[in-house]
Amino acid sequence: MTIDVAIVGGGLAGAALGTHLGRAGREVVIFERAPAWRWRAGGVFTSPATVAALRRLGLDDAALARIARPVPAMRVETPRGADFRLTYGDDGSLAAPAVGLDRAVLDPLLLGLAATAGADVRPGVTVAGVEQPAGTGGHFEITLSGPDADTRTELARVIVGADGIRSQIARSMGVARPARLAARTALTYHLADPAPELARDARMRILRDGYVGIAPVPRGRVNVGIVLGPSWRAALHADGADQLAARLVSEIPATADDPASWRAGEPTDTVEGAAPVGHRVSAVAGLGWFLVGDAAGFLDPFTGEGIHRALISAELAADAIDGLRSGRRDASSAAAAYEHALRVRFRAKDWVSSLVQLFLGRPALFEYAARRLAARAGPRERMSLVMGDLVRAERGLDPRFLAALLRP
Ligand SMILES: Cc1cc2nc3c(=O)[nH]c(=O)nc-3n(C[C@H](O)[C@H](O)[C@H](O)COP(=O)(O)OP(=O)(O)OC[C@H]3O[C@@H](n4cnc5c(N)ncnc54)[C@H](O)[C@@H]3O)c2cc1C
Repeated sequence: MTIDVAIVGGGLAGAALGTHLGRAGREVVIFERAPAWRWRAGGVFTSPATVAALRRLGLDDAALARIARPVPAMRVETPRGADFRLTYGDDGSLAAPAVGLDRAVLDPLLLGLAATAGADVRPGVTVAGVEQPAGTGGHFEITLSGPDADTRTELARVIVGADGIRSQIARSMGVARPARLAARTALTYHLADPAPELARDARMRILRDGYVGIAPVPRGRVNVGIVLGPSWRAALHADGADQLAARLVSEIPATADDPASWRAGEPTDTVEGAAPVGHRVSAVAGLGWFLVGDAAGFLDPFTGEGIHRALISAELAADAIDGLRSGRRDASSAAAAYEHALRVRFRAKDWVSSLVQLFLGRPALFEYAARRLAARAGPRERMSLVMGDLVRAERGLDPRFLAALLRP
């Protein structure tokens, strides 16, 4: 039997897309390599815009309370002592705050939503490759391997890569390109939080050639996300990931409003790594194929937009694929519509993120900007709305804004 829409990857992007398409009455199969959810390198801190997208997927207050811990602000701290708080539009009341997510609950919950919407979710199945052989009427031939290591093929009319930063589908379609930033290593895990009820700020400690992010998450934990540039390779090799991560965390200072007692908390999972972080593609769609989430490109966790983008790209791709499968669009216009919608939504944000990376790569410049952000409420507020995808990112590129932020 030919699959109508095959989604490769059951992370946030794949599960959200499967839910939208299932609800639209499309026949969908989701292939997910992992037999069951387990912690792996990924993000948890996200803006109120993600909470809104999760509501659109159908999560109610009770579900959101289970998967999201309110975070009043992200505090960015430089090595030379500047710090500023990004509040993502929340006025301190925590009515619509940024959040730290419990991925162990959220990811399976979204896959469950997809199954409820009618998607056929197949865990433990890896897509090893995709081709479009002659004689299949333009269908895709997917090579699958299961837990028993047997290999078989299936045909699909539409294929979607929701398979993250090492996207097999992007490679099979010939659009994967080297990331623009230098190869970095990410390490992530959780520590027990001795004050689990506290609404505490997330913290982003800038290091030389890297950074450490700390985000409070549900079930009494903080998430640790460390990203290290090439100059850390020798230390990583000498110390090992666990020891280096523990050392970097122990060096985060206590502050007036964060005694940082979580530093001594027990790890609640293993340190999971990803290297190199980052992924770029030359196109996000073509005739009958689409890329969503990280598979469609991922710059760096610093600007924290991966989760929101995964959910929005799923919404936009669902629209294009539904148009294609219902006959409202042909393959070429469905691909063009998705490519255009994603560009309109995120191109300016990509420029802002690249600008932030430019500063981050030059410590003196970042320090200069951080001190001005700390002193200037207006630019700081706007920066946090832009970073959180809460206003159009073009506002972060407006010369008047940049002048107000950067003038001496
Ligand atoms: C260290 C780190 C920190 C981050 N911090 C943040 C943050 O603070 N905020 C934020 O918004 N974002 C952050 N991100 C990014 C965020 O984690 C991702 O953007 C988000 O998880 C993307 O979801 P996704 O569904 O596109 O991909 P993934 O979550 O990577 O899901 C891809 C899925 O595809 C499956 N898969 C892969 N290959 C195959 C295959 N061949 N066959 C079948 N299945 C396959 C995988 O098992 C996986 O389940 C961070 C990322 C990293 C690495």
